[in-house]
Amino acid sequence: MPVTVFNSLLLVVEAVAYFAVMTTLFRLRGRFGLGIFLCVLGVMHFVETYLAAVFYIALPFGIISPGSTVLFSGKLCMLLLLYIKEDADTVRQPIYGLLMGNFLMVGLVLIMRNHIVVSPVPGRVADLGFIDEMGWLMIWGTTLLFIDAIMVILMWERVSRSIEGHFFIRLITCTAAVLTFDQIGFYLALRVLTDAPVEVLIGGWVAKMGAAIVFSLLTGIYLAVFEKEPASRPQRKLWDLFDVLTYRQRYEKLLASAGRDGLTGLLDRGRFEHEAPRLVGHAAERRRPVSLIMIDVDHFKSINDRYGHAAGDEALRGLAQGLAGAVREQDLLFRYGGEEFVLLCDGLDHDGALHLAERLRREAAALEAGRAGGLTLSLGVATAPEDGGDLRALLSHADRRLYAAKRGGRDRAVGRTGAASPAPSEQPAPA
Ligand code: GH3
Ligand code: MG
Ligand code: MG
Repeated sequence: MPVTVFNSLLLVVEAVAYFAVMTTLFRLRGRFGLGIFLCVLGVMHFVETYLAAVFYIALPFGIISPGSTVLFSGKLCMLLLLYIKEDADTVRQPIYGLLMGNFLMVGLVLIMRNHIVVSPVPGRVADLGFIDEMGWLMIWGTTLLFIDAIMVILMWERVSRSIEGHFFIRLITCTAAVLTFDQIGFYLALRVLTDAPVEVLIGGWVAKMGAAIVFSLLTGIYLAVFEKEPASRPQRKLWDLFDVLTYRQRYEKLLASAGRDGLTGLLDRGRFEHEAPRLVGHAAERRRPVSLIMIDVDHFKSINDRYGHAAGDEALRGLAQGLAGAVREQDLLFRYGGEEFVLLCDGLDHDGALHLAERLRREAAALEAGRAGGLTLSLGVATAPEDGGDLRALLSHADRRLYAAKRGGRDRAVGRTGAASPAPSEQPAPA
């Protein structure tokens, strides 16, 4: 067997052995905590840098170091795994720990080199030059790792938002990109310190891409087989950390749905009570206008009466979607009550708000909101500071103008000086 093929096979064996032991220790975190896993990661870091400095082998495509290929790439995957299954708070511990450990090591060596040494074994003296080189390489390596780890986590978040499931594709995308960045960065240091040839850059990159594939595949399998959703586990013991792990996911889901109205997905009344006073207060402090538009669907009861509540719900959902699509990005749209909505527009003056209200009215009429077809809206518009500087004053003015719109024949927006534009046609009263 050619030497390069033999070397490649040996590398794969090393990667699988490393991964198997590390993930076994990781999997046992439920029983022993994460300390064992993290210490092993730290120890591997030392040998990894040593190997990256001096231990190179020939592969079919170039010269590589098993330290970088197996141990460094593996470590990045382990940090990503730690983040995926735990959280940012946990993963930053080894990231900071490795960085601090290297600073401490280099600092201690600076002190130790002042010793007057004896050599008990003739001919054996400490190679301080090499230790210095290693120290700087380790500091550079961990600084890069620090950036790599943040990059890989941010990328993971980004990629996971656009791709659901497909663990392997997400893992390979993130690890391949970050390892490419890392290879360039680490080679620059090697070049300066050890005058490493360009083959080391190319060979190392190809090898790291191979490592990204192998480790992503193994991580995907590990996650699918050993870290399934807790629901599929028959018994959950008290010490099982899965409770803690899924807590994070549940918390995130809860956070995303908190303050959202169940039917329409708009911000709910609770959020209005929380956000609106703050927003109006801030605008007043900065002497900036803020407008409030109160929206009520006309004769909505007749839709329920005619088509049933389910169709009424569907119409409300469609309307909410239409309104949300028509407002400005920075506006806050709340479901205020049954078929009533409130829109808060920071920085929008009264004329602008009246225009917007008019646009919403037209938008709603043009919507196919469920079986009921287009809906007509009555809207009342109020603006701070002219209509008062606090939320209560804005609500009361907008409410009064909304009822003026109803009295005026519905299907219209009313502001301080009256209707924006009288509705072209009057809605027939419900049967
Ligand atoms: P107008 O405002 O033009 O005076 O007439 P209206 O029929 O809209 O008046 P009202 O405010 O009295 O009625 C609102 C109706 O909205 C009453 C209620 O049945 C219905 N409604 C409120 N919330 C929901 C909901 O979540 N789903 C459905 N289907 N109907 C709702
Ligand atoms: Mg109403
Ligand atoms: Mg109504």
